[in-house]
Amino acid sequence: MPDLEPDEFRRLGRQLVDWVAQYRTSLPSLPVQPNVSPGSVRAQLPRELPEQPAGALGDDLVALLNDVVVPSSLHWQHPGFFGYFPANASLLSLLGDIASGGIGAQGMLWSSSPAGTELEQVLLDGLADALGLGSEFTFAGGGGGSLQDSASSASLVVLLAALQRSNPGWREHGVDGTETVYVTAETHSSLAKAVRVAGLGARALRIVPFAHGTLAMSADALTGMLAKDAAAGKTPVMVCPTVGTTGTGAVDPVRDIAVAAREHDAWVHVDAAWAGVAALCPEFRWLLDGVDLADSFCTDAHKWLYTAFDASFLWVRDARALPAALSITPEYLRNAATDSGEVIDYRDWQLPLGRRMRALKIWSVLHGAGLQGLRESIRGHVAMAGALASRIDDEPGFALATLPSLALVCLHLVDRDDHPDDAATRAAMEAVNAEGHSFLTHTSVNGHIAIRVAVGSPTTLPDHIDTLWESLRNAARHSGV
Ligand code: PLP
Repeated sequence: MPDLEPDEFRRLGRQLVDWVAQYRTSLPSLPVQPNVSPGSVRAQLPRELPEQPAGALGDDLVALLNDVVVPSSLHWQHPGFFGYFPANASLLSLLGDIASGGIGAQGMLWSSSPAGTELEQVLLDGLADALGLGSEFTFAGGGGGSLQDSASSASLVVLLAALQRSNPGWREHGVDGTETVYVTAETHSSLAKAVRVAGLGARALRIVPFAHGTLAMSADALTGMLAKDAAAGKTPVMVCPTVGTTGTGAVDPVRDIAVAAREHDAWVHVDAAWAGVAALCPEFRWLLDGVDLADSFCTDAHKWLYTAFDASFLWVRDARALPAALSITPEYLRNAATDSGEVIDYRDWQLPLGRRMRALKIWSVLHGAGLQGLRESIRGHVAMAGALASRIDDEPGFALATLPSLALVCLHLVDRDDHPDDAATRAAMEAVNAEGHSFLTHTSVNGHIAIRVAVGSPTTLPDHIDTLWESLRNAARHSGV
């Protein structure tokens, strides 16, 4: 198949880089949410695929982007994007992504990508230090880090490592039906999915109650459940505390949970997909309290750390644990470096064989922003969220659904008796979203709808929060609250 000549690539590449720069510049003037209906994008696209190469590939691609993709996209990089959690695809990180694609190496083995492997190891060791994770999670300390595609994959691979550790016969015989895994009702659904994919069945999933008046796991309840299950012949395999739950940003008490789990040799995996990166700031280090007792820790670069999807950091205390569960070595992958035992083959730390050089985009972000720049950005988001939370707290007709967590604020509209008013809350969210300057999503808190405001875009400024707040107040006035 004919490829572009490098000179032609240079020309088209510039056209595309210009387009991306222009798109990012234009974002504030675009509605965050598109006006689409199911099938409306498909209806604009020809069904036939081209038999002949396009005569003007760059122009055709730009036309597709301008005419179809942009008008039909939810603009995640918009400064008024407050939905879900941020998925910051910083321009800094795109530089590394272009380089990674350009090199096109497959980093399954150290020998298939020595540079990619060791760059990743060095960056992950450095980040473990920067987050205050402790040397036990570095390669020098016997553990180590890897870049996964997602926190969901991270949960799955550590569950497999936990199964192997709890039952050395697992590789040969699979699960025996006694395995149990402990989460809360606020744990991310990827844990339930991991349990399913690992073949444990939903019966293995134990939902630990919350501590009274919170949405965080009760360590006492966990202690009781572990003891009861162990007495009944179950095998507690893994406990998964969350630092910053998806719904409300709740933080489970990792230290007490880890102490309880260790009594039963259960693996402790800390899912800090969104909030974990805040530990770069010394004042948020408390988030990691107890992680020194955990077996693994995950936080996403592709949420709040400026990095274009996909890049999720996973550290394990024991560098042998993932290979023990996942390594399979056919003859065609054998090589002297692997046999020497002196290298990391990252294929043994993940499900797919192949992997790209994600480390390059992490490098671009870390070197382009510097740790100081990243800390300032996180602090700015937390400050904006805090200021919004104060306004909500002071405003009749509004209430905080939970205490704000870092840069996440959850709110209700309330009736005259200060009870959450679900209809008014939903109507307010829809009214704000329809205006186009901001985008919000919701969750459920104690059975009531709550609007989530997740502040986290690099381009969000206090003005954008002001616009959102005025719009919410207007919506409340119209709903008669
Ligand atoms: N864990 C938590 C706490 C999350 O909030 C999310 C996503 O929002 C995930 C896991 C899944 O993230 P990923 O898309 O990286 O799999």
